[in-house]
Amino acid sequence: MAKQTQSFNAEIKQLLDIVIHSLYSHKEIFLRELVSNASDAIDKLKFQSLTHAALLPENWQPEIRLEPDTQARTLKIIDNGIGMTQEEVTQFIGTIARSGAKAFVQMNEEMKNKPELIGQFGVGFYSAFMVADKVTLHTQKAGTNDGTVWESNGDGTYTIDSVPRPGGTGTTITLHLKAFKEEDEVQDFTDTWTLKSLVKKYSDFIAHPIKLKNDKAEDETINSQKAIWLKSPSEVTKEEHKEFYQHLSHDWNEPLKTIHYKAEGTMEFNALMYIPAKKPFNFNMQDSAYGLSLYIKRVFIMADCKELIPTYLRFVKGLVDSADLSLNVSREILQQDRQVTQIRKNVTNKVLAALKDLLKNDRSQYENFWTEFGATLKEGIPSDGANKEKLEELTLFHSTSSDKMTTLEEYVTRMKEGQKDIYFITGDNLTQVSHSPYLEKLKEKNYEVLLLVDPVDEWVVNSMPEFKGKKLQSIMAQGLDLDSEAEKKQKEEELKQAEFTLRPVLDTMKKTLENDVKDVVLSERLTNTPACLVSASQDPSAHMQKLLSQMGREYGTPVKRIMEINPKHPVFEKMLKATPEQQTKWTEILFAQALLNEGSNIPDPVKFSQQIAELMVQAADATKH
Ligand code: ADP
Repeated sequence: MAKQTQSFNAEIKQLLDIVIHSLYSHKEIFLRELVSNASDAIDKLKFQSLTHAALLPENWQPEIRLEPDTQARTLKIIDNGIGMTQEEVTQFIGTIARSGAKAFVQMNEEMKNKPELIGQFGVGFYSAFMVADKVTLHTQKAGTNDGTVWESNGDGTYTIDSVPRPGGTGTTITLHLKAFKEEDEVQDFTDTWTLKSLVKKYSDFIAHPIKLKNDKAEDETINSQKAIWLKSPSEVTKEEHKEFYQHLSHDWNEPLKTIHYKAEGTMEFNALMYIPAKKPFNFNMQDSAYGLSLYIKRVFIMADCKELIPTYLRFVKGLVDSADLSLNVSREILQQDRQVTQIRKNVTNKVLAALKDLLKNDRSQYENFWTEFGATLKEGIPSDGANKEKLEELTLFHSTSSDKMTTLEEYVTRMKEGQKDIYFITGDNLTQVSHSPYLEKLKEKNYEVLLLVDPVDEWVVNSMPEFKGKKLQSIMAQGLDLDSEAEKKQKEEELKQAEFTLRPVLDTMKKTLENDVKDVVLSERLTNTPACLVSASQDPSAHMQKLLSQMGREYGTPVKRIMEINPKHPVFEKMLKATPEQQTKWTEILFAQALLNEGSNIPDPVKFSQQIAELMVQAADATKH
């Protein structure tokens, strides 16, 4: 096929524009990204050759080579890994929309100061354009004889051509380095010493030799290739962990917590895991990969192995190196392998134990962790029965007692004399729930209420009917039972009396709201608010129904709720004396207010505003004379 010129897709064009024109600092990280790609390519070839030995050229030894040329101002990064077909080049490097590119472009402002984050978006290759004004990639896929040359100035188009690669299988990336400018912090990427120190800094533990010719034109391996996870945990320095974590995660921060151990006995494996301090930018994206890397006896098998860790621990970065698994495992085998299940169990226990330790010994760090990943960890409560109790103990809640978050254990120690249950309210955000009229009565009693505002919380509390013998009770549900026997008796009397007096009003309200609620009843749940809506105890909460419909999962026809009214509120006394027409209108207004108070939408906001305006006019007229 003849040489062709093609255009990058719109997102990649924008991305390149940012990379070329906006990223000024830490340009050196391009080397980390390209060496990391080279190393991945070698890992892939090694792994595939386990089942297809013919893919490996004779006497193949893995190698990444750096070839600087000071005169020509070029730097080559050469690997003998898996290579790419022409189709793969256009896919990976050229045109297809990748979610990472989109996310990166959207990050624009923040990116300008933090080019080092580029790798997190899965678009590390393009960091080459931070230092080069032309990039040439020459690659040949293992098992084929066709080479591909790809070239671009980063200006919106690239060329692609079929040319056999002199070295056969592998990839050569040639960077035509930009000219120095006075104002740049000058770093010469053709300088041997500079390259050596960058490899030491970012890529020392890359498992394959990175080679560079020294002054005497001899090959020198410039990385130590140490597998730090095989060292005894006490021998690994903080610096080494930091460097390795950054390599694994493309994160720029230090890890919040390091978990490094060797399992012995029935299974033998080494695990090295990190809990990040900050959420990666693509964390909540649908297609973001997660899982631990799997090594078997130091041989890299696969990245992002989901079988090794439950979904709710998807924030953990790290690897497992097993001595027992057979080298020719496949994804399919992994899914049913008993040893893999054992490893996963063991790894899960260790992570939860590390979190427990953090909660106990460094509360403020734990709270930082919780802010980033708490909503993710909580998903384990409904999904992992075996660890439910541990996860319940690790969960932090907002509450009405202070701005600080609390554990359930701590809540229980603060429970008041006579308080029966652990109370909670669910909703969309803290401002809304902390002003909710449902809290009135509990405030009066000085009972603490947990404020649950993460979408996952509805599922969490549904699967947590109690904690250590104490019932978890929604304060928005029917039959909230706060009083002692004596109080109840007295209130029953009062309610009976009120019911007798307010009968006509109740009847009109029931009639008016016939299609909207199951019933209208008197209650002593409220003190300052006239009315609220509650779910019958076996029904899903309003918030749950709202979440399901936001997720596109309708709950069938919405489940009707019960309207509770506060007989002590003066509005009802006034209603007794109002005309039937007024009673109907006021009922509609009260219903709309109750919906607003619980954070629901009202069906006809325009009508509601008109009704309020009308009331204002009437009130003004009434005070005129
Ligand atoms: P990432 O490596 O995070 O996927 P990149 O933009 O750095 O993102 O690379 C895109 C893809 O291009 C890689 O996933 C890989 O499939 C391919 N690739 C990049 N460099 C090489 C290489 N040296 N050898 C083989 N494939 C490569």
